[in-house]
Amino acid sequence: MTDSKPSSNHSIKIIAGSDKIMRRVSKLISVVKFGGSSVKNIGRIQHVAEIVKTRMEDGPVLVVVSAMGDTTDYLIKLAHQASSKPDQRELDHLLATGEQISITLLAMVLRNMNIKASSYTASQVGIFTENVHNKARIVDIRKQTLLDSFRDNEVIVVAGFQGVTTGGDVTTLGRGGSDTTAVALAAALGLIECDIYTDVDGIYTADPRVIPEAKLLERISYDEVVEMARLGAQVIHPRAVELARQYEIKLRIRNTFKPEHTGTVIDGGEDMEVYRTVSGVAVDKDQSSVCIMDVPDVPGIAGEIMQALADKNIVIDMIMQALYPTAGLNNMTFTVNSSDLDETIDALEKMTGRLGAKGVIFDSDIAKVSLIGSGMAGQPAVAAKLFTVLGKNKINIKMISGSEKKLTCVVAASQADAAARVIHEAFGLGDREGT
Ligand code: ADP
Ligand code: ASP
Ligand code: MG
Repeated sequence: MTDSKPSSNHSIKIIAGSDKIMRRVSKLISVVKFGGSSVKNIGRIQHVAEIVKTRMEDGPVLVVVSAMGDTTDYLIKLAHQASSKPDQRELDHLLATGEQISITLLAMVLRNMNIKASSYTASQVGIFTENVHNKARIVDIRKQTLLDSFRDNEVIVVAGFQGVTTGGDVTTLGRGGSDTTAVALAAALGLIECDIYTDVDGIYTADPRVIPEAKLLERISYDEVVEMARLGAQVIHPRAVELARQYEIKLRIRNTFKPEHTGTVIDGGEDMEVYRTVSGVAVDKDQSSVCIMDVPDVPGIAGEIMQALADKNIVIDMIMQALYPTAGLNNMTFTVNSSDLDETIDALEKMTGRLGAKGVIFDSDIAKVSLIGSGMAGQPAVAAKLFTVLGKNKINIKMISGSEKKLTCVVAASQADAAARVIHEAFGLGDREGT
């Protein structure tokens, strides 16, 4: 694909062409995304602009950027100073401003380098989402609007993380959502590749900042990365990988500060399952467990509880209900993202009287530690080894759940990093060559 792209001078002429030519041009565009640490200050934005300039040798470039450094955290803090329970619509409006700063600055730096670049918000390029705030999903992207923005530009810089409803309200896609913006734009353009530039060399067997022995993976399957990302590996947004899998877009995770490094390729990876039982360990400290106690054990109750949470768009995980010593009663326990904890408790407490349940208890001092691997299915020795190593290291397991590609243990938050370290070591994840 790269080889067939015209030089940047040639591409400028094509860009000014007819609709038919524009459709052909769409296939030549590179979509690249830079995260918050890559655009933390003007110096880094200038460095990003140099990478973009190099990428222009292959054709027009669509750049997606996140907010500068910790801007989104800062904006959330401000919102909570303004209100103990910020209105979700207003919060989205506020958060979207973070990316609007970085897109304009990058476009200015590029223009200063005599590159025809313009910045665009999600509403300007037509990234439409559900009418949901804080974790909206993209439902439609207007390809023609996107292409039109290339008519007078060699580079367009699009704000990540944000969207717009058909009613014109600003939405955001959830923390880390700029990755999803990039993949969705690549999909809308019918591209087969998308590069995500970040502050590490690629995807490792564990967070390299917590486990320095973690190994860089040259290649990994969509399925494994979806699990890793859902289970807390911050390196990429899970929905970005789901979209890439759906549209068969090859993702490359690479380091902004070592742009020559090949990074990690995420693709279908069919042949990888054969030789890799486990691929990595992920930790999610942003979790809380919630239990609704002594719920009447009758048909329909679980549905009612889950519906109340679904109505509030609260995502829950590790749902557990088991044998209970008192006939006719049961406990229902699950985990939620800590940012949804207050709303979850509120929704459940409103139901307890009507359901005849005893009450709601929670634990916000927990973390999920997960072992991920496509080759784990049907191998009970993996679970045995995992639980044994935690036990040997005096790490108590509070909850367990598993599926074909992962095993998750809830442990005390203070023990999460130690748990990840001993698991990583027990499975020899740092020892492998050429994975
Ligand atoms: P960006 O600002 O570029 O979006 P993020 O901070 O969202 O970057 O994600 C990059 C970070 O993800 C890394 O700095 C690293 O600490 C963390 N991380 C967690 N798990 C992994 C992993 N398995 N491989 C690589 N990085 C990981
Ligand atoms: N700026 C947003 C965040 O910090 C989105 C992103 O960085 O991907 O979550
Ligand atoms: Mg990120």
